[in-house]
Amino acid sequence: MDKNIQNFRAIDLNIDISKLPTPIYIVDERLIEKNLRVLKEVMDRTGCRILLAQKAFSMFSLYSLIGRYLSGTAASSLFEARLGFEEMKGKEVHIYSPAYREEEFDEIVRICDFIIFNSFSQWNKYKHRIKASGKRIECGLRINPEYSEIETEIYNPCSKGSRLGITPENFREDDLEGIDGLHFHTMCEQNSDVLKRTIEVVDRKFGKYIKRMKWINFGGGHHITRPGYDMDTLIECIMYIKNKYDVEVYLEPGEAIALNAGYLAARVLDFVKNNIDIAILDTSAACHMPDVIEMPYRPKIVGAGEPGQYPYTYRLGGLTCLAGDVIGDYSFKEPLKEGDILIFTDMAIYTMVKNNTFNGVNLPAIAVYNEKDGLKIIKKFEYEDFKERLS
Ligand SMILES: *Cc1c(COP(=O)(O)O)cnc(C)c1O
Repeated sequence: MDKNIQNFRAIDLNIDISKLPTPIYIVDERLIEKNLRVLKEVMDRTGCRILLAQKAFSMFSLYSLIGRYLSGTAASSLFEARLGFEEMKGKEVHIYSPAYREEEFDEIVRICDFIIFNSFSQWNKYKHRIKASGKRIECGLRINPEYSEIETEIYNPCSKGSRLGITPENFREDDLEGIDGLHFHTMCEQNSDVLKRTIEVVDRKFGKYIKRMKWINFGGGHHITRPGYDMDTLIECIMYIKNKYDVEVYLEPGEAIALNAGYLAARVLDFVKNNIDIAILDTSAACHMPDVIEMPYRPKIVGAGEPGQYPYTYRLGGLTCLAGDVIGDYSFKEPLKEGDILIFTDMAIYTMVKNNTFNGVNLPAIAVYNEKDGLKIIKKFEYEDFKERLS
């Protein structure tokens, strides 16, 4: 994290922070590119293909940069697929959804190169439409190896009763005509030791089917670009499967592409005292960083410490009327003042894609930083954006 704080200081050289309109996301292109170079190294060392999982990060203004390094995009819906198709031109478009809607399927066929099904019933329902299109589409099935080390239940696709993927028990060996690949997604923010154990299970339970495939997709959740990630074990896993089964390997990380590459700057609006000191910001956990409540987790702030670590501790709250709209407790070396700007780190992923305008709270503006242009605000939201989604 410290490195990124220093990187933010580098931005400081070119902008006057106190003049920033807040709240605002700032994505540092240099840090995105640094992540992309790491991912490219995995591709170069293994021959695997890596896709951007758009559900984590759909900042399409950077898709041409991302497309210079990666093989394409992975989508969870028609709209995400279309965004990848339109904005990362000429690159592969993959889609997986727990179920496809009939009225959307023809367009999915038109724009996607890879379609992954969650069940044999979905596969059988749609395979004729794919065939009838005359387009060469690679079809895959999502499998559920019933092995995951994710401890947060809502993020565990292999929890008991999960709807995601086909379990070994429900797999149909005689229904694979036309299936080119298998897909599993069982990880979340994990290192490659978890992948290695997962691969052992996938190999044991599904190896006899992988043999008949052209490719296998290891899904997302690989924290490849975090400090200390064990890339050699990842490479070993990819090469093991590639060599054993003579298949292409795909990875579709989301987080790893924009991990630690963005900030959210917010201003202090007011203070409330109720046993503890509370500062109210012009951002909101509920609206602008929903994973803080959903995961839950405590984001880092440049220059702030754990409660009590520095002399002045505050609970930071959002400006909605949700009682639980609390970001966390933090301490500072100096007392906070109205108008101070706080910089939350690692705010590029699972933020813009999940935001909402609950309470009529406006969405943060979006800015990118690069060396050539400095800081550029590329999007601002208005009342009309709020109203447009209502009726
Ligand atoms: C969420 C998801 C991803 C991306 O996961 P990250 O944790 O952001 O790397 C990839 N594939 C599928 C099927 C997913 O559901």
